[in-house]
Amino acid sequence: MRIQHLIDGQAVESSTYFETVNPATQAVLAEVADGGAAEVNAAVAAAKAAFPAWAGRPATERAALMRKLGELITKHVPEIARTETQDTGQTISQTGKQLVPRAADNFHYFAEMCTRVDGHTYPTPTHLNYTLFAPVGVCALISPWNVPFMTATWKVAPCLAFGNTAVLKMSELSPLSAARLGELALEAGIPKGVLNIVHGTGKATGEPLVSHPDVRAISFTGSTATGDRIVRSAGLKKFSMELGGKSPFVIFADADLSRALDAAVFMIFSNNGERCTAGSRILVQRSIYQDFAQKFAERAKRISVGDPLAESTIIGPMISQAHLAKVRSYIELGPKEGATLLCGGLDRPSYAPALPAGMEKGNFVWPTVFADVDNRMKIAQEEIFGPVACLIPFDDEADAIRIANDIAYGLSSYVWTENIGKAHRVAAAVEAGMCFVNSQNVRDLRQPFGGTKASGTGREGGTWSYEVFLEPKNVAVSL
Ligand code: NAD
Repeated sequence: MRIQHLIDGQAVESSTYFETVNPATQAVLAEVADGGAAEVNAAVAAAKAAFPAWAGRPATERAALMRKLGELITKHVPEIARTETQDTGQTISQTGKQLVPRAADNFHYFAEMCTRVDGHTYPTPTHLNYTLFAPVGVCALISPWNVPFMTATWKVAPCLAFGNTAVLKMSELSPLSAARLGELALEAGIPKGVLNIVHGTGKATGEPLVSHPDVRAISFTGSTATGDRIVRSAGLKKFSMELGGKSPFVIFADADLSRALDAAVFMIFSNNGERCTAGSRILVQRSIYQDFAQKFAERAKRISVGDPLAESTIIGPMISQAHLAKVRSYIELGPKEGATLLCGGLDRPSYAPALPAGMEKGNFVWPTVFADVDNRMKIAQEEIFGPVACLIPFDDEADAIRIANDIAYGLSSYVWTENIGKAHRVAAAVEAGMCFVNSQNVRDLRQPFGGTKASGTGREGGTWSYEVFLEPKNVAVSL
């Protein structure tokens, strides 16, 4: 199979192609067009040409097309989920039941929202001020390889619904599901040039895209290092930067420990641990630490690792051999830094079943739990982005807040306690864009999603998406 760029409604061939492989088997899934500055320039030109007519259409018409695309995604959930699972190793239970259906929701939600954009008025005795919101123009939308279909639609839906046009660049490690999105967008009747997709590497395709003078806004999801590079090279543009994380999951002794245990297991091991909001630093109050650590490791040992297309699998393969090597390097580092390995490790543990036939060369790693972790260790400070949990003891509320904030990142956070005052105090004190109290990460499309510190700038979701996809203008009328 060959995947082409989508430029001005046409499938555009490339002089070179790269392969995308199934991380469970290493089998080649497709050859993908390998773009560069020429394809980026053509895609931006198409998006620029399509912008005036698209922005000028009534919001109700754009909304109808967004809904149609949402319906087409819903119709094709099993097919898209299978493609996504084969391309990324994310399990079918996640892609089929959560991630692809949520992608359809993104279109339905922003279809509604774009018809509700209103302004503000600031009357004074001498002037009537009011604000208008206009689309920005051509937007560069850049997605990472984890949950790529959901992330791409989380950007494409508000971008297009609000009247902008887009050039979407997927990660070179997971391009397949977005290629299908491009086809479905045309089928839905979205005019040519409104959504363009250019495939390729960050260097050859991403760099010319973000630095293109006709690109007015960048919505980027990816690593902190790349986000930093883009901000430096892109020049004056609107930005939304959704970057890495190393989120604290704080469990006080007075928490509902059974629910906290379930949520802690879910937040580090679901999505293969390749989740930006993973609760990867699990801070546990010292009086319950030993008991919790033992129960947590028992649960981790029972997690099924294997074929991502099997409904019962919880952890599939890591996205690439390079990423597997990175995750393994942290598993190797943990004991050297003084952490205690409770389960998992570099090789398949004796309690874990063998991998399915044909998947022996897959990028698999077993759920790994480190206890006695000091927050200053590298395994606690750096984003591993795999199924590796660090259990860190703390003494009291002040100690928990100190450890939670002793990190470069600030994406998500989780607090578990039955003491309502303490829950609110810690939620307010923790340096993060999001805090979930007695809950795992539950997304509401209206909430501001994003992080602080090294986890990014800007927020998306609900009216927060105005920040990147709409330009406010104040009009002052003399009375
Ligand atoms: P990455 O930064 O390596 O790549 C992300 C995207 O940027 C890819 O499409 C890549 O090709 C492109 N890119 C690379 N260099 C570029 C450049 N110089 N200019 C323009 N584009 C460039 O990230 P990744 O490894 O694909 O994804 C994992 C990271 O994403 C993790 O750090 C994770 O925490 C983060 N992430 C964050 C969120 C969030 O919402 N905050 C969500 C998912 C993932």
